[in-house]
Order: sequence, then C-alpha cells, then structure tokens
Amino acid sequence: MTRERSIYLLNPKELSPETIAVAFAKTSRSSKSFSTIAQELSDEASADFHEKWVVGYGHASVAEHAVLHIAIENISRLAIETLESNRLASYTEKSSRYQKWRPDSFYVPAELNDHPELKTKYQNTCRFLFETYENALPAVKKVVENMVPCQKDENPDAWQQRIRSDYVDVCRYLLPASSLANVGVTINGRALEYAIQKMISHPLQEVRTIGEEIKIVAEKNIPTLVKYAQPSAYLQSVYQEIPVISNNHPTVDPEIFSCRLVSYDQNAENRVLAAGLYRFGTLSYEQYLQIVEDMKPEQRKSLAQQMLGSRSRFDVPIRELEHAFFTFDVVLDQGAYFELKRHRMMTQTPQSLTTKLGFALPRKLVQAGLRDIFMQAIEMVENTYDEIYQFNPDAASYIVPNAYNRRVLLTMNLRTIFHLVNLRAAPNAHFAFRRIANKIREEVLRVSPLLGSFIYQPDAETWQSIEDCHFEFTESTH
Ligand SMILES: Cc1cc2nc3c(=O)[nH]c(=O)nc-3n(C[C@H](O)[C@H](O)[C@H](O)COP(=O)(O)OP(=O)(O)OC[C@H]3O[C@@H](n4cnc5c(N)ncnc54)[C@H](O)[C@@H]3O)c2cc1C
Repeated sequence: MTRERSIYLLNPKELSPETIAVAFAKTSRSSKSFSTIAQELSDEASADFHEKWVVGYGHASVAEHAVLHIAIENISRLAIETLESNRLASYTEKSSRYQKWRPDSFYVPAELNDHPELKTKYQNTCRFLFETYENALPAVKKVVENMVPCQKDENPDAWQQRIRSDYVDVCRYLLPASSLANVGVTINGRALEYAIQKMISHPLQEVRTIGEEIKIVAEKNIPTLVKYAQPSAYLQSVYQEIPVISNNHPTVDPEIFSCRLVSYDQNAENRVLAAGLYRFGTLSYEQYLQIVEDMKPEQRKSLAQQMLGSRSRFDVPIRELEHAFFTFDVVLDQGAYFELKRHRMMTQTPQSLTTKLGFALPRKLVQAGLRDIFMQAIEMVENTYDEIYQFNPDAASYIVPNAYNRRVLLTMNLRTIFHLVNLRAAPNAHFAFRRIANKIREEVLRVSPLLGSFIYQPDAETWQSIEDCHFEFTESTH
C-alpha cells in the first residue's frame, strides 16, 4: 500500500510549544501521523514527556521544536550584547541608524547604588553624552546636506531619507553602552535554557535580572523546558578567575584600528577544492587532496571557476568552503562592532568595552565644529570609567560610548567570509564596518589568491579610500 504524501503545519494557535515539540519527538517511535499524536496529547502529558526525556534522559534536541517569540524592551545595549551572544536564535533590535534616542534613555547600573557620588557622576556623564548627541544631529546633518545636495529631480523627502544614515551613523558614536533599546528574540527551548543559564550566571546585575525575568515569562509557555535553568558554578568561576590572569600583564600602547590575520589554513585552497570533488565522487578525502595537489595551476583555476564562477552576488556558495578557517584579531570601534556581533556563523571572542584602546573621531563631527565638545565628553567618560573600574570593571563598560575601540577575536570559515564581505563591504553598509570587511577580503586574497578572487568587491573603490573619506582616529588620552 502506498502512503499519500502529506505536508502541513502544526498550528501554534491550537497547540502549545511543548506539545508541538512532543508531537515531533514521538514520531521517532510511533507510526501515527503528527496530527494524531498531537490530538492524543494534553499540556500535562507533554510536560510529563519533557520531564522524563528532555530533563531526565537529556534528549535536549526535542526542546528545539518548542519556539518562543520574546519581546524585550528598555534594556541596555550592554545587556543586549550578552543576550545576542547566544547565537542559535534570531534577533531584531532598535536601530541606532534609523531611530533617535531620547535624553533620558539610559540604564543606571545597580552596582552603583552603594556609591551615591559616583552614581551622580555617571548619570551626569550619560546626560552629557545624550545632550551632545542630540545637538550633534542637526549640526552633522547640515554638513551632510552640503556634501550630498538634493538632486534636481529628487523628491526632498527621498533625499532626506537617502542621507539620513550618513549623519545618524556618525552621531551615534556618542551614545554609551548604557543606552536603552528594545530587542525581539525568536529562540527555541533548548537554546533558551542555555541562554538563561548564562545570563543568570553573569557578573552584571542587570543581565542576571533580565535572565530571571525571561525565565518567568518563558515558563508561561514552556514550563518544563526552562524551569531547571540554574546559575552555573563553572561559568561563574571562569568569569571570576580568568580576568585576574588576563589583566596581570603590563599594558602596551593601544592599537588604533587593526584587522590582523593571525592564523589561517595554509592549505585552504587545496582543501576546499578537494572537498568539492569529494562531494560528488567516491574516493577518499586524502585521495582527492592528492589529485588537487598534483594539478597544474590552470587546472586548479579551472576547478575553482567551476565551483564558484557561475554564482551571482546573491547566491550562497557551496558548503565545502567551510573546510577552510581564518582567525582575525580585530580592533574596531563599538559602532562597527554593533554590526559585527550579529553575524552568528563564526566564533567571536569580544573583549569587554574599555577606554584603553583609543577612540574614533568621525570626520563629519569635526567638520560640524564639534571636536571640542566631543573631546570634553571623552574626558568625562574616561574619568567616570576609571572610577567605576576601580571597584567593578564589568560595570565600568556601561559608560563607554560607541566611539571607543575594542578588540575581538574572530574565527570564521571561507563561506562565512564570502557572506560577510558581500553584506558589509557594500556601499550602504556602515562605514567603519566596511573597512573591516574590506580588510578581511584583502587578507584572504593575499593568502588564498585563487579562492579569494571570487569574494565580492565593491565597484570602483578600495577600503583605503573609505578611510580617507570618513574617518579620523585620535589616541586615547590614557
Ligand atoms: C543594511 C542593514 C541594515 C540592518 N538593520 C538592522 C536593524 O535595524 N535591526 C537589526 O536588528 N538588525 C539589522 N541588521 C542586521 C541583520 O538583520 C543581520 O542580523 C546581520 O546582518 C547578520 O546577517 P546574517 O543573519 O545574514 O548573518 P549570520 O548570522 O552570520 O548568518 C549567516 C547566514 O546563515 C543563515 N542563518 C544563520 N542563522 C540563521 C537562523 N537562525 N535561521 C535561518 N538562517 C540562518 C542565513 O542564511 C544567514 O544569512 C541590518 C543589516 C544590514 C546589512
């Protein structure tokens, strides 16, 4: 007897996320249809199933079928960053490019409650940053309007829309990590339990509280899958003990923007080409590697052309590019890091926000006559940062504005590099991140010229010209 193909949705309006997860899990042992299994379930029976299999026996992947959409409002950018470091989820957050911040939209860390004078200083510094930001918007807008005038036939509204990111992107360098924002999160039960565990183990009070609140909200829909999330003694000891070793070394001169390729796969090209052959053949990987190594340069070039040459800019290259890895040590400003942190298909190790690695002073702010006020803000920030750092280095991060540099270690495969450069070297991308994306492209091209030549390059410009146009760096006063 042939069975009819059947494809349908399990409706989240009729079934709870935990019941949907059980209906899928049970197909492993039951010949019944998903809808029949689901009809036979109740929320209580589903909870019992999860208690036994997911919690009891550790079949955690079942929890991936229970998906939640969590709306989180008015948390600091610093907290959003820790939330988004959970990479197996989807996020959309308030854009500092398309929205403006009100002067009072900053978080005051609970860590300052026992330090009333410092708390006042922190609040004054935040207010000064927000005021300077608010005043900078019309001033930098004027600069941009002069640089990019309205075209003859252009609708004035369309022109304003076109130039908006040019001045907002610059002014947002003044906003501190304490700025409040909203973020929408779509996440499955398995990833959420781990995210909650990490958050409630975090050194910052705000992050721990948000973790607890997310847990309470999530328990309404997936009560069994998150209720056992507890702080991790292991994570807490790592957060406490490793910084002592990391910071027990003399500081060297800060680097002002860099993107160094610190480690890479020397045989990346051959290994990717061999994997491409392997996928469609029957020989072992070592045999294909030997075949590729024995090829003449023109043959390798032709094979690379066949694997990558017919793509349009919007085609995802085949997965075999993931067999080559590159590690970059990047110093970039927080404005650029905002964009980088959202790229999930790589391993990112960011250092904490600091005032010790210098800051970016966007040229348009200088052209708008705002250099002195910007430097005044920098001085206030560095004083406040130093005072908070004395007793709580983690809480000190809140006062650091987006202009400051930070370091991040990135390990990514070649397929991700194709995607990242394609998206972030494009002319509409954020100017500081474009420099990084173009530098990454340049470095890969240097060490893997054959495959690197297939990475997208924006027309008629280089990253050096972007730097000349938009940026100026000044060393930290520290
Ligand atoms: C011009 C521009 C404006 C933006 N504006 C905003 C904004 O206002 N607010 C905001 O929050 N973000 C904004 N973003 C960020 C954007 O939404 C992405 O989060 C970011 O660019 C990372 O891209 P990615 O998801 O493709 O990369 P990665 O996370 O590195 O993923 C690489 C690829 O893997 C696949 N993938 C990864 N994870 C999943 C998943 N969970 N489900 C399905 N496929 C997946 C996708 O094919 C994806 O392209 C903006 C980006 C750009 C370029």
